[in-house]
Amino acid sequence: MNHINQKYPLVWEKDNLFIKIFCSIPNISTGIVITSKESIIVVDPGDGILRDLNQDLGQAKILEISDIFISHGHHDHVGGIWSLLTYLSVMKRTKPLNIYFPANCEEVITIQNAFKKVYSHEIKFNINLIPIDNEKEIELDDIKVISFKVNHKEQSSGNEISVSVPALGFKFFNGNKSICYGGDTAYCDNLVEMVKNSDLAIIEAGSEEKDNLEMHLSIDEAIEIGKTAKEYFLVHMPQK
Ligand SMILES: [Zn+2]
Repeated sequence: MNHINQKYPLVWEKDNLFIKIFCSIPNISTGIVITSKESIIVVDPGDGILRDLNQDLGQAKILEISDIFISHGHHDHVGGIWSLLTYLSVMKRTKPLNIYFPANCEEVITIQNAFKKVYSHEIKFNINLIPIDNEKEIELDDIKVISFKVNHKEQSSGNEISVSVPALGFKFFNGNKSICYGGDTAYCDNLVEMVKNSDLAIIEAGSEEKDNLEMHLSIDEAIEIGKTAKEYFLVHMPQK
């Protein structure tokens, strides 16, 4: 498998666990859907997620989505939440929706509050915002999820220093298969630990060289970590 020039979408399936990565391009968008026999989960709904889900799943299945997992609040990971929520409301969803996100992630909290304010007269479903601040085990219908903290930063105004943003990775289990998604992260022990022996690891390689600002993994670091899983995808690579 050529890990460097991958074309989206990326698809992987083992037993009953299926993942499609519609897109993962830094500063543009991310969009991932994971399905099993009983669950449909969206991970990092960036811009375009509604279009991609509509093309892929269609309306009935979009309404069945039970849970959304958000790795962090950068726009290329949350930019599609508004349109997805609005669509669910327009289609008269009644089933509650769970959104798991890093505690203190202002973007997710603000988007949800604004959405409720604008559409309060017509929303028929509950949005459960579930903040996560560290390792947590979450049981869905037939998928178990373990969250873990990762190390992602953003540049502050001077550009010379970087500051931490609340950021998580997630490992999804179904039967004896597992998928580990690290979100955006610099090299960190939690990621190394969680990727090990996963059936599939999805690892960002957002930096070509070693990243002293600790925003992203370099391609070499991402490959080194990826090799400890049975298979891996490199994602979030800068586009030439
Ligand atoms: Zn980011």
